[in-house]
Amino acid sequence: MAKSKNCSYCGVPEAFHNDVQWNSDGTIHQKWNPDHRRFFYETSGLDLLFKNLKELLGDTIDHIVVEAVRKTTYDYFESLLSGIKGQAIRALPRKKMYEKVADMGSTFGIGRLELMDVKRHEYVKIRGRNVYSTLLHKGDLVGIYNSIEGVPADINVEENGDSCFFTITADDKSSGDLSERLERIVLPRKPGNLDFKKCPGCGLPLYLTDCAWNIEEGVITDNKTKRNMSLIGPEGLDAVFRELEEELGEDIPRTIVDAQRRYVVETFKPTELGYEAGNLSFLLALRGMGNLVQFILGDDLMQAVVENADPPLMVAGMLEGFFELITVKKSTSEYIAGDDGTLEIRVKSA
Ligand SMILES: [Zn+2]
Repeated sequence: MAKSKNCSYCGVPEAFHNDVQWNSDGTIHQKWNPDHRRFFYETSGLDLLFKNLKELLGDTIDHIVVEAVRKTTYDYFESLLSGIKGQAIRALPRKKMYEKVADMGSTFGIGRLELMDVKRHEYVKIRGRNVYSTLLHKGDLVGIYNSIEGVPADINVEENGDSCFFTITADDKSSGDLSERLERIVLPRKPGNLDFKKCPGCGLPLYLTDCAWNIEEGVITDNKTKRNMSLIGPEGLDAVFRELEEELGEDIPRTIVDAQRRYVVETFKPTELGYEAGNLSFLLALRGMGNLVQFILGDDLMQAVVENADPPLMVAGMLEGFFELITVKKSTSEYIAGDDGTLEIRVKSA
């Protein structure tokens, strides 16, 4: 494992702060590709959301999730491995190349991968620990394999204790129509004027000084909340949600919003919210989930508008969860997730 250099001021690893940028419009994007948004979110939230969806909808969601995440990760790696630095990585021996990719994943808090065996163009065997979501990571690994080996692939995973054993094999079967339907949609972003306190060393939000990187374990922990955080791409999740609705019906968006609401109510502490629009705005923007531009809160009603909301269903669920935590009341909600990336939500006490 390569030794990581850190920002001398805030301690964030160089591989992390060189890759991403937090913006005043409530988004996070990759420095070298502003079209690639990032999403800094609680690992347990992502894992639980997909476990809940799997429980409700069955194994039928697996192929949709894996294919959507595969496409996003494939795009990311094609872009990453195309520049001069990328060509240098491609020139490495296979084993070194996969080890470098594993180190990157660790820096982003998606888990620690260990290369077990690799045979060029045939298979790769990997052991994973602290993997942020086994299902989502299956998609990541196939996308990475597609980009490095240049061939289609299939993946199998066996979970044993605290480890997941992934086997990725070259496989020429095509995902065909499903793959076409899962195209990434890049929305234009509306400008914003959020003002983060930034680290004078690396320019990332000073909030990140509360986070500790354990590169050997592949986890980032927010020391204040004690929750682990992962940096992933939201577009794969959007594509998953769109396709689940298309295949399984119009109740799906509500199921996703409810799952997210429940997660927030069960996980966040009311003291984290601060009961003010400014603090809620910070909680969303810190996660790269958008810019809270309107917020009205009464005893039984909350109305909010979030620009650049992504993933919009998770933003809606998060706001509904905040309402329940603040008012200590059950709720119902109506929302409109516009094609321009603006989410309007109205939450009432039930
Ligand atoms: Zn810094």
